[in-house]
This record gives sequence, structure tokens and C-alpha cells, in this order.
Amino acid sequence: MTSPMKASLFEESLKEYNEAVKIMELEDDIAEFLRNHERVIEVSVPTRMDDGKFRVFKGYRAQHSTVRGPSKGGVRYHQDVNIDEVKALAFLMTWKCAVANIPYGGAKGGIKVSPKTLTMGELERLTRRYVADIFPFIGPLKDIPAPDVNTNPKIMAWMVDTYSMHAGYPEFAAFTGKPLALGGSLGRLEATGKGVAIITRETLNYMELDSKKVTCAIQGFGNVGSNTAKFLYEDGIKIVGISDISGGIYDPEGIDIPSLTKYRDQNGGIIKGYPKGNSINPEDVLFLDADIIIPAALDEVITQDNAGDIRAKVIIEAANGPLTSEATKILTGRNIFIVPDILANSGGVTVSYFEWAQNRYAYYWDVEDVFKELEKFLTRAFKEVIIRKDKYRTSTKMGAYILAIEKVSEALKLRGIYP
Ligand code: NAD
Repeated sequence: MTSPMKASLFEESLKEYNEAVKIMELEDDIAEFLRNHERVIEVSVPTRMDDGKFRVFKGYRAQHSTVRGPSKGGVRYHQDVNIDEVKALAFLMTWKCAVANIPYGGAKGGIKVSPKTLTMGELERLTRRYVADIFPFIGPLKDIPAPDVNTNPKIMAWMVDTYSMHAGYPEFAAFTGKPLALGGSLGRLEATGKGVAIITRETLNYMELDSKKVTCAIQGFGNVGSNTAKFLYEDGIKIVGISDISGGIYDPEGIDIPSLTKYRDQNGGIIKGYPKGNSINPEDVLFLDADIIIPAALDEVITQDNAGDIRAKVIIEAANGPLTSEATKILTGRNIFIVPDILANSGGVTVSYFEWAQNRYAYYWDVEDVFKELEKFLTRAFKEVIIRKDKYRTSTKMGAYILAIEKVSEALKLRGIYP
């Protein structure tokens, strides 16, 4: 979660975009068009509290682009949510969807609230009023929200119901990340980690590294970190380090992931106290002597101050924005292969797209089909990124941005500017 004390997150995300635009020599007017959001909504969300009084919360929805299709992105509930952060995340979603070649642009929403301070009833009323407030601007063909920080399938169920009541018919395709009973997709919960594992495998093949000989360390053991660990472990990759907020483990012999997952689930969701391996500080997992490190917890954990301590050959950005732009420059200069977030964690939104597609034609797939399609989308995205990286003799991150900007700008040029 990004603190509002930091410099504008949106200005920060424009830096990479501007660099890519320069490398690919995109026309100035097209570049300028895509720097701007199509629509940014701020709503006041009055909510009746259990004591009978009401409070007013600030809600946002930023829609960056609908050039390639409806916009798509999560809704987060957090006390630090602000318009700048929501705009930055919407902007990133446009590029992530284009890299994965799914037919969406980017959006993001949020409510400035600390959800733990609300009762279940208050949370439900807040959620329903927020959806009612943004109802005219969302929908399966307009903008499709999903879960993000502190929102979950239960909250999506309230959102779908509220939307359906306003629309006058059940409309499951208006949101993704829903419970299975309401049109959710099999494989959605594991999708981001599964995607990270697919991209890791593609990276190893590209770098001609033997997956049976490499070692890996992962920061974060939540949804993304633990599913990444699960699929890498199943692929036979030795995971020597893992941390979460409570602690870290280093085991040069390899961590038994099913056993650690079981421990976490029986231990209140944290890994502190796991009896095997050596205990380390949570942050130190990034600086272990491992071939691959996968930051899968927080943004901006690798900065210019600690980039020099990285010993890995490969960094897979499973979290959003775990490397600052300065750190990326330093590490790219050291020839460390960095797979950017807009490629590495795009498995989540890709399976969200499959969920929407299943809802739209009311026919549901097996998990095997979901993962088979995911493989297809992500291996193709990886290859396309590498083609741009080689063509422009640039970094993988720039390769990903160039691929995404090519796709959106091509669609924009074909559509033209109305009127
Ligand atoms: P989560 O809340 O399920 O898990 C976060 C994990 O990070 C937890 O294990 C937590 O203990 C750990 N953590 C927190 N502070 C830490 C610290 N200082 N050191 C080590 N570990 C720490 O969240 P998630 O859904 O797994 O998301 C993780 C990242 O991936 C975020 O950047 C998120 O934006 C991004 N992401 C998530 C998805 C998704 O589908 N869930 C999709 C794309 C990107």
C-alpha cells in the first residue's frame, strides 16, 4: 500500500511511460492523449452506521482508457486511498491489459476507509451505496470492477446484487472476482500466482537456466506469494527463502511448501515460528544468495539504497511496483534480468477476463481449461515483450511498455478522435 506522504504516484508512473514513448518514437499527440484519463469520478458515500447516525466516506473510480474495450480494475478499501493513487493504478491497468492482450483498458477504484473499523452491516451498506453512486459509469460493457486491497468475493457479491437491482436483471459480468456460486471462475484465486510461475518458467527457458538447478526466494506469503510458491514447488524449483510480515525462513535445502502452507493456515495466517530452516528478518529474503527473487508483498521494497545488496540473477515483480525506477536502472545496469509487474502479475486480470467471458456466454470452464488458456496468453505475452526488448535493445520493462503502448495507440489511431 502506498502512503500519501510519497511524491505523486501518478507522476512516478508516467516516468516509465514517457521513457517508452521516447524509445518507440510515438507521435506527440497520441502520447499526450494516453497520458490522460478518460474519466475520474469522485463520489461522497453516505453510510448509515449501526448507531443510527451516518458518516460520509470519499469514493473514487478512475477510468484511464476504453480504447481497446471496457475498462477494468480493482476497488480497494484503505484509509490511504486518494485520487492520485487511484489514477496511477488505473493507468497501469491499461498497460497490463494490453501486455496480456485482453480486450480491456485500465480503471481503478477505492474508498477512503479503514474497513476493520466497520461492522459487517456498515461495510455492506457502504459497498452498496458506492456501487449505486458509480452505477451510471460501470457495467460489463463500460467498466468492470474487481477485488483489490481489503475487498474480496463477498464484497463483490454485494456489488453484483446492487448493480443487478439497479439494472433490473442479474448481471454477473459487471464484476469479477466473485464467489463461484455467482459466476466466479475456477482458478481465479490462484491465477496471479499461477501466472507468476508460468512467467518464471518462460524466463528460465529464455535465459537457458535449468529449473532443476536454480534457487528462488519469495517475499510475501499471501495470495500471490503462496500460490507462486505452490506452483514453482510443483515445477520442481527449489525455494530457499520465504517471508511474510511476521518473519522469514531460510533453508538452503529447500522449503517444503505444502508443509509451510499448512503451518500458516493453522497458525492464524502467518509463518512466524515455523520449526524448520533458519529464521531471518522478513526484508532479508530479498538479499539471499538465490538465483531468482520474487517480491510478492509490497511496493517499493527495492530502492537505490538497497539495490546493491541484491545477489540474484533474475527478479520477477509479482507485487505491483516493488522496484523503484532508480533501483530498476541500477539493477538493469548490473545485467540483472527484471520481469516487470505489468507482465509478471497479469495472470490475475487475465483470469478475470476469462470470468467475464464465461459470464457473457453463460458457460463455465474446468480449472484445467482456465489454466490452459492462461498459459497461452502469458507465454505469448512473454514472447512479444522479448521481441520488443530485442528490437529496441532495451530492458524487459521497456519492452513490456512498448508492446502495450503499440497495442493501445494502434487501436486509437484506427478509431480516431471523435468528432
Ligand atoms: P495479501 O494481502 O494476500 O498478501 C500480502 C503478503 O505480504 C502477506 O503474506 C503479508 O504478510 C506479506 N507482507 C506484508 N508486509 C511484509 C513485509 N514487510 N515483509 C514481508 N512480507 C510482508 O496480498 P496479495 O494479494 O498477495 O498481493 C501482494 C502484491 O501483489 C500486492 O502488491 C498486490 O497489489 C499485487 N497483486 C495482487 C494480485 C492478486 O490477484 N491478488 C494481482 C496483481 C498484483
